[in-house]
Amino acid sequence: MSQFDAALMWFRRDLRSEDNAALFAALKDSRRVYCVFVYDTEILDALPTRKDRRVEFIWQSVTELGHALEKAGGQLITLHGAARKEIPRLAATLGVQAVYANHDYEPAALERDRAVALALKDSGIAFLTRKDQVIFEKDEVLTLGGTPFSVFTPYKNAWLKKMEPFFVKAYPVESFAAHLAKAPAHQSMLTLSDIGFEPANLQALGISGGAAAGKKLLDDFLPRMVRYRDSRDFPAKKGPSYLSVHLRFGTVSIRALARAAWPGVGGQSGEGPATWLSELVWRDFYFMILHHHPHVVSRAFKPAYDAIQWPNDESLFAAWRDGRTGYPIVDAAMRQLNQTGYMHNRLRMIAASFLVKDLHVDWRWGEKYFADQLNDFDLAANNGGWQWAASTGCDAQPYFRIFNPVSQSERFDAEGAFIRRYVPELAGCDKRRIHSPWTMTPLEQQGAGVIIGKDYPAPVVEHAAARLQALEMFKAVKG
Ligand SMILES: Cc1cc2nc3c(=O)[nH]c(=O)nc-3n(C[C@H](O)[C@H](O)[C@H](O)COP(=O)(O)OP(=O)(O)OC[C@H]3O[C@@H](n4cnc5c(N)ncnc54)[C@H](O)[C@@H]3O)c2cc1C
Repeated sequence: MSQFDAALMWFRRDLRSEDNAALFAALKDSRRVYCVFVYDTEILDALPTRKDRRVEFIWQSVTELGHALEKAGGQLITLHGAARKEIPRLAATLGVQAVYANHDYEPAALERDRAVALALKDSGIAFLTRKDQVIFEKDEVLTLGGTPFSVFTPYKNAWLKKMEPFFVKAYPVESFAAHLAKAPAHQSMLTLSDIGFEPANLQALGISGGAAAGKKLLDDFLPRMVRYRDSRDFPAKKGPSYLSVHLRFGTVSIRALARAAWPGVGGQSGEGPATWLSELVWRDFYFMILHHHPHVVSRAFKPAYDAIQWPNDESLFAAWRDGRTGYPIVDAAMRQLNQTGYMHNRLRMIAASFLVKDLHVDWRWGEKYFADQLNDFDLAANNGGWQWAASTGCDAQPYFRIFNPVSQSERFDAEGAFIRRYVPELAGCDKRRIHSPWTMTPLEQQGAGVIIGKDYPAPVVEHAAARLQALEMFKAVKG
């Protein structure tokens, strides 16, 4: 027998109708389930532009979700307003006894959820949440002493040890689809212009929101997974899955991805799949770090590093941001980010390290810029990645290991193919000089069709000197 006569499923970062933990629970527990998505003005109004790739992606995904729910006999109510007010109001209007949602781990979302839960409680409505975004959350993977891990490798080993088929099993939402309900008054779904936004350039980039597009990317990646370990570090190659934006908005299920790469349930085996699974574990790891150490949102994981005096030269930051540092691999990376909203993982590490260790700009400036630009922006992973690169985080790369932007470029873009794609000024350089074009003689520059300092910038800093200065800055606070 159903526990509730009517419930409301509130979709947020889980924009799919299949294998959705909270939707499954709502349908199983209730006779009638209404569904809602709120375009939250508290988030949208703060965005600097009305042409945001993420908003377009969300809108496409919500629209597709609405069609899927309709096909299954339900309906998606879409609202534009402050979720903390809209959800309690809608729940009361519909007369539901419970609102279901999946866990969020970001401090602002948690604060919103607390406000919603409180308002619902005042009306005698339960707020029930489920784990959906990760395989393991919060306290599920702990050290033998019962404390949270702060280093990745032992966390990963404990994560793998804890894995069981149960944790990657899909929630059979379809078994209870008959409980989906239509909204009492017919409502058409909101359009992008209804919420005050315009299309960005997703279509031109070949990016589509929605679960069908997520599945297509996964299907494309599955035969490539076996080569992942060997191809993932080379930005000119089609090595990674490009699924991050779908994971961010829940248009793919993390359980489906883990199933594909975990031999325990018949997933692929070997070094490629194991390496990819490890990346999914990194994702869980950073969610867990954010849960246990919310101070990382504004401060260093390791407090000593909060004392670093960052020179924060605005013109150096602007050169980095705009892709004109004179270091081709850094500039190509930043231009990829600015043009597409994506940056390859190896390049995220190089660009982040360069901003902090070569330009001596506070990692939080870079973190904020990535947050504004990345399609897949995720607070936990972005913060973790930045603190890793800045050597301020848990499991940080030690401060004395500083990426050399030229040797990284020679190693991971040996032919200069990626640089040529995003820094066309350097297309005429040969593969030896393209990584450090300032070393070309005037005659070579002429031959390559690029005059350094005129057509392409000279390096804004000298790496060797900048490196020594960074070491001093870090040593000063390490004591
Ligand atoms: C400075 C910096 C900032 C980053 N910011 C973000 C961010 O805002 N959002 C984000 O999703 N990832 C972030 N990453 C991690 C990583 O770069 C991206 O997840 C990855 O490049 C996305 O491409 P993909 O989906 O093709 O990855 P794949 O290589 O196919 O990996 C599969 C999935 O594993 C997860 N993953 C992979 N690497 C990491 C990692 N290091 N940490 C956490 N999860 C990982 C992602 O969800 C990714 O989609 C950041 C890394 C760095 C160094």
